[in-house]
Amino acid sequence: MKELFDRLGLTHDTQSGVYAGKWIENPGGATVESTNPATGGSLGHVTMGSAADYETCVAASQEAYERWRHVPAPKRGELVRLCGEALRQHKQELGALVTIEMGKILPEGLGEVQEMIDIADFSVGLSRQLYGLTMHSERPGHRMYEQWHPMGPIGIISAFNFPVAVWSWNAFVAAACGDTMIWKPSPFTPLCAVAVQNIVAPVMEAEGFGGVFNLCVGDAEPVGETMIADRRLPLISATGSVRMGRRVGEVVGGRLGRSLLELGGNNAITVLDDADLDLTLNGVLFGAVGTAGQRCTSTRRVFLHRAIADEFTERLVNAYGQVRIGDPMHADTLMGPLIHEQAVETFMQAVATVPTQGGEILCGGDRATVSGCEGGSYVQPTIARVPKQLPLMQEETFAPLLYLVTVDDLDEAIALQNDVPQGLSSAVFTNHLRSAERFLSCAGSDCGIANVNIGTSGAEIGGAFGGEKDTGGGREAGSDSWKAYMRRQTCTINYTAELPLAQGIEFGTS
Ligand code: NAD
Repeated sequence: MKELFDRLGLTHDTQSGVYAGKWIENPGGATVESTNPATGGSLGHVTMGSAADYETCVAASQEAYERWRHVPAPKRGELVRLCGEALRQHKQELGALVTIEMGKILPEGLGEVQEMIDIADFSVGLSRQLYGLTMHSERPGHRMYEQWHPMGPIGIISAFNFPVAVWSWNAFVAAACGDTMIWKPSPFTPLCAVAVQNIVAPVMEAEGFGGVFNLCVGDAEPVGETMIADRRLPLISATGSVRMGRRVGEVVGGRLGRSLLELGGNNAITVLDDADLDLTLNGVLFGAVGTAGQRCTSTRRVFLHRAIADEFTERLVNAYGQVRIGDPMHADTLMGPLIHEQAVETFMQAVATVPTQGGEILCGGDRATVSGCEGGSYVQPTIARVPKQLPLMQEETFAPLLYLVTVDDLDEAIALQNDVPQGLSSAVFTNHLRSAERFLSCAGSDCGIANVNIGTSGAEIGGAFGGEKDTGGGREAGSDSWKAYMRRQTCTINYTAELPLAQGIEFGTS
């Protein structure tokens, strides 16, 4: 562990959680303890930012912005490329830290860092493709086009469950676009944030641009609330619960700022009678049990066609019985812990509510104990069979609790799938072209992500990522998500000696 911490520039004692163009030695906020959810053991302490430290971060990001926006975009991309290289060199230890501090199994921890590297590569290419459109003017001798400018310093708020990748989805794209930023990570994963900063800061400082990526570890108060109300930040990109997103949307909207919201999901898989059940089994298992059900895209509901419902349920319950729960650093572990004891409590409450609403727990439904990890926050992966969509199923329980509902056809499944407030990820398993296309049609899934013969989780960075309805409507990562990080300007140039007005309007004194 010491070697891992050394390689990431971390200590087991107390370290600063504020970087404003350089590390701030003694930030004025409270000190937060980072714990390993697998064991309950202490990993170290991080001193959070005060309101004054936040101000220092804003000043650093503003100063850097004045220079960074003038750097040609492909040159900005080159610095992002170097950050990606630094991440490549630290992939093993950063991935391990993600596992140790957040609790996802090591292959997923490493996968998260790979996602950072992928989005860095994507952003390098993007830095040469910040395209605007040109259009034909209705006026003679006029040229019209759109161009995209950086927005300014922006705020990034991230959740505990993707403690490093979500920052990079925002940060690398935004940096290529010419923005500078302040990151407020989850106080449950502060060491991951400090480690990321330790990796990218030397790259940026060497080029004189330490103030592009700033960090202010903090709670909702004072750092989060100060940030979202701050008119100097034209964009707040916030990832987390719907509750948090409502607050961010309200405050940022109140000052007519722009918010990019990536909020909770309530994701469903529909399994039709012609589905390949082997494929489906793996898709459901990874979607529901992977990351211990702590992905925004985790599968929470499965709609089973009546013809295969019994067979599939039996196979799924069997598969759940074979899930190895344990220390996420161990190679044979499939499911690690929940993030903390409060998450276990929330899971237990949901499990207890299932029978009161008419459902039945088929397997799991309790805490789990792991030998040698007695202080960890473990639960059993759980399947509930329910006769219909229960009121409880309107909510996202951020844990491995899966509901099975039997349906008669695809239309019923789509109606039930869409009948929740969230709209993030969805999937259908079918070998029938008509069913697949019906699911993907405008009258099909209402989610931001709709898959065929793939589960709900595990998105690639090339596509725009995000969801509709209470999931917040934001889009991050690939495709044209970059437009959220820039301001659009429509320019019209008159190269004649006349001044014709649009719509043929005549206006003048003679
Ligand atoms: P959370 O809402 O408790 O916290 C997320 C972040 O918001 C943290 O940094 C927190 O400190 C901050 N925050 C909370 N209140 C705030 C306020 N008033 N002002 C400013 N900041 C505030 O979420 P969590 O428990 O860390 O993460 C789990 C949730 O995140 C789940 O609902 C999950 O679905 C969602 N999530 C969504 C996506 C997505 O892309 N849609 C990705 C990951 C996680």
